[in-house]
Amino acid sequence: MIELAALPTAIVEGSSDRFPVGRIFCVGRNYEAHAQEMGGNPHRDPPFFFTKFPQALVPGGGAIPYPPKSTNYHYEGELVIAIGKAGAAVSIEEAPSLVWGYAVGLDMTRRDLQTASRDKGYPWDTSKNFAFSAPLAAIRPVAKGHVVKGAIELTVNGETKQRGDIAEMIWNPNEIISQLSAFEKLYPGDLIFTGTPAGVGAVTVGDVLRVTIEGLQPLDVTIANPA
Ligand code: MN
Repeated sequence: MIELAALPTAIVEGSSDRFPVGRIFCVGRNYEAHAQEMGGNPHRDPPFFFTKFPQALVPGGGAIPYPPKSTNYHYEGELVIAIGKAGAAVSIEEAPSLVWGYAVGLDMTRRDLQTASRDKGYPWDTSKNFAFSAPLAAIRPVAKGHVVKGAIELTVNGETKQRGDIAEMIWNPNEIISQLSAFEKLYPGDLIFTGTPAGVGAVTVGDVLRVTIEGLQPLDVTIANPA
């Protein structure tokens, strides 16, 4: 069984170096079709953010336990931005200079708890921020280029469930960095999960998930028995 990482670090593509992880920020509803399937209005409402604790990170993916207190455990395949330079209230033009690299991630979600919280106006912590809820593949350093477009796809047991393009984001990575940094100064080690395309759905024990984004290392996760 995997243990929680005490000092979480992410894997770096093509290197034995590790990327020390600070905070994990996530964007809600950032692809139009997914915003619609969640009942929202995606038309350039300002992005909204939530967080996960860094110990939710599962570097490199692998087996993650089905979480307690849920019977509707969902995948959300996402592009993740790794921040390498501090910056507050940065402009869209300055935003690329803060990026250390990009990776494929999963924003695992207890959808039943999220729906209940939303209906009551409660926070999302129990539905989004819990152990093993943030699997992350190797980070590709920005020297190999920024990610502005490219296919993003998620399969469960080989069957395609989510398919979209990074270019379809309502708010692109530079806009996200600019908007988020207006609320909170960003620091090296911060990760930003940038939202998921349409097609979210439930998994059960034994399911095998693969998330791919063109040009990045794929992320493979298997849903294991409850811890
Ligand atoms: Mn998400």
